[in-house]
Amino acid sequence: NVRVRFAPSPTGPLHIGGVRTALFNYLFAKKHNGTFILRIEDTDQNRYVEGAEQYIIDALNWCGMPTDESPVNAGKYGPYRQSERKHLYKQYADKLIASGNAYYAFDTAETLDFHRKDHEAKGKTFIYNWHNREKGRLVNSLILSPEETQAKLDAGENYVIRFKSSQDETLHLKDMIRGDIKIDTNILDDKVLFKSDGMPTYHLANIVDDHLMEISHVIRGEEWLPSLALHYQLYQALGWEAPEFAHLPLILKPTGKGKLSKRDGDKLGFPVFPLKWTDPKTGDISSGYKEDGYFPEAMVNFLAFLGWNPGTEQEIFNLEELIAAFDLNKVNKSGARFDPDKIKWFNHHYMQEQSNDELAKAFKNSQNELVEIDANYISMVIGLIKERATFVSDFWALSHFFFTTPTSYDEKASKKAFKEDTKSILEEVASIINTIEDFTVENLQTKIKGWITSKEIGFGKVMMPLRLALVGDLQGPDVFDIMFMIGKTEAVKRVEKVIN
Ligand code: GLU
Repeated sequence: NVRVRFAPSPTGPLHIGGVRTALFNYLFAKKHNGTFILRIEDTDQNRYVEGAEQYIIDALNWCGMPTDESPVNAGKYGPYRQSERKHLYKQYADKLIASGNAYYAFDTAETLDFHRKDHEAKGKTFIYNWHNREKGRLVNSLILSPEETQAKLDAGENYVIRFKSSQDETLHLKDMIRGDIKIDTNILDDKVLFKSDGMPTYHLANIVDDHLMEISHVIRGEEWLPSLALHYQLYQALGWEAPEFAHLPLILKPTGKGKLSKRDGDKLGFPVFPLKWTDPKTGDISSGYKEDGYFPEAMVNFLAFLGWNPGTEQEIFNLEELIAAFDLNKVNKSGARFDPDKIKWFNHHYMQEQSNDELAKAFKNSQNELVEIDANYISMVIGLIKERATFVSDFWALSHFFFTTPTSYDEKASKKAFKEDTKSILEEVASIINTIEDFTVENLQTKIKGWITSKEIGFGKVMMPLRLALVGDLQGPDVFDIMFMIGKTEAVKRVEKVIN
């Protein structure tokens, strides 16, 4: 029974790496007919950001990955916000103390700071564990007796509950992506599990909830790999069976050097968030893929390839196909380079798959000039130009001449298209167009091409200035399509305009 969870902390907008983690959880769940759960890890009240939870839910929905259980569609494992589960955690900390796997510690911030600096000065890293305990250098040097502990608690001293990591032991950890990992416990910190403010830390809450929610597989970012040893020990100490773990590779900057960070987007000129985000405190706006004109299918297809590939040449996968093809065992260990051009390539592809009617709606909404234009006409125009478009915002530049008469002609294009005899050629073209009764693309083609052939004028000499007259430039779709679309009167008008 596969149950996976995406467990973000609502500390700001979900970034692209988080969406990738959610996606891999989603794909794995759906592939195995399992359950995809959203759990909000909001135990750190200082870092809580207004609106972040809603943003996470909106982003998942936009990507087409609705959750099976979440704070807003609770299943029987709720509540799904850790802040609402507060009362659950202390008993497990107590249990760990009773079994000798955890202890109260009363070190002040100053003491800890002193030791950290002292180590630093000697070029060492301070590790709070048996090593320090043995040396008797901390308040908790030899872990206080139950009586001493109680006295301090009664006196209202600030405390934390720390996990007592074992000494001289080698842990054998397993990761579905990385295989077997050996860890020497002597390098592990005695991590804080619970604080005197009554809140568990991430580690305790995460393990307790994964257990109570019967999570079968933990799929998360590589940044959590260093916590795996502690999590293993916690499961063991609590007498629980650990889930399977899979740590997804880092997402690297476009240069391939270093981890892609939340700040990189603005710096490098592409969004790192799925949706636009307005910071509730500063009002600062960060751009999002949705508002920048990306299709969710493109984002999903792109993200799937950050760390995974099917082992074949196929690159285009819709969500259904991804579910069928996805395999955690095919996820790479090494970092995945984020290539903003690649997501554009996907967007161009998925643009072709959108219906012209849908695109026409979006286009009409985005362009004032189109308010009065018939939706069917816009739809037909899109059929002619979308092959060249990556975004809806490209449409106007590719199609304005279907809607408005050119008011100017590109200078370079004019030079290229206009020769001495152009005027007389176009005069004849205009009269040919005028004679066509049944104004179809086919008739236009036959008449004009036939005339060119019979006169032996050369194709370019006619078609280039004709295109210039219709478009104002030498670009655009087929000239006969354009004439058909704008109609006979307008076509003749444009040809006459360019020579007068
Ligand atoms: N709350 C953690 C985060 O924000 C969850 C890590 C995990 O999945 O265990 O990423």
